[in-house]
Amino acid sequence: MRRHLLHDWFLVWFGLGVFAIGASQGFAVQAAEPPPMQPQQAAPGAWYVQGLSEAGSSANQNFIANAGFVVTAQGVVVIDALGTPALAQRMLDQIRRITTQPVSHVIVTHYHPDHFYGLQTFKAMGARIIAHRAARDYLHSEQAQARLAASRQTMAPWVDNQTRLIDADDWLDAERTLSVGGVLFQIKPMGPAHTPEDLVVYLPEKKLLFAGDLVFGNRVPFVGQSDSGQWAKALDALLSFDATVIVPGHGPASTQARADLQLTRDYLLHLRRTMGQAARDMEPFDAAYQSADWRHFEHLPMFQLVNRINAYNTFLLMERESP
Ligand SMILES: [Zn+2]
Repeated sequence: MRRHLLHDWFLVWFGLGVFAIGASQGFAVQAAEPPPMQPQQAAPGAWYVQGLSEAGSSANQNFIANAGFVVTAQGVVVIDALGTPALAQRMLDQIRRITTQPVSHVIVTHYHPDHFYGLQTFKAMGARIIAHRAARDYLHSEQAQARLAASRQTMAPWVDNQTRLIDADDWLDAERTLSVGGVLFQIKPMGPAHTPEDLVVYLPEKKLLFAGDLVFGNRVPFVGQSDSGQWAKALDALLSFDATVIVPGHGPASTQARADLQLTRDYLLHLRRTMGQAARDMEPFDAAYQSADWRHFEHLPMFQLVNRINAYNTFLLMERESP
């Protein structure tokens, strides 16, 4: 078993780690070297750490999503907890270089592993966890347990038997405004879109939006089983915020908020248009995929990895949606 795991680990490492990290970041990678984590300032008092544009693996320690933190006079509010307890601890160490304030709250934008497997680190230090109630059934489902079990294999040793699924302390049903140390956080449900439980966090004084996985900065999103029609509508709703900076769930912060919102929306609508046409014409998926025009998107990071599965999921969705 151990030999088998080790073998898998090396495969993943050579396949993804050395090639993808080395090629995209332009530095040599040693086996023991963790992916770098350096907070970047998004607005006064607000930072984020940026995960790699890759699929999660042992090699990248599942550091493939972003997380944010906002320092106030009465505590630090964290947005998303990263993909392992160890990553969360590293973010905590970075926070402590900036402030001695404790983390008072963690807002979970959605319960995908790369965004919440680090929660227990914050929970252990007394932070209050806020998420949308729509995630609660999933969190207690066999499906969530099965995914955790799979992650213990593919993300070993970073996700292990000590890694647990953590409930929120506050399950929200509706919009909530949180005030911590005089800073306002508008927490707004946007699902079902990327997930049923999507939350975004808007800081009106800073015109800063933490958008979770509703917005992917300069890359193709992972669509998964999401309702892309609702998602596109949610993006239209986000366009109504007066945000000047968006911290997305993946990729760099955007100071061209509208352009990035529109890119994700245009991609979703393109998938729905092309795959919807094929579903209505009862064209086989492979032929439809071959003949679709991907020119606007094929240069974007992650396109090769996720576009085909995105198209396929959309094809199935459009088959269900078509009359
Ligand atoms: Zn996600």
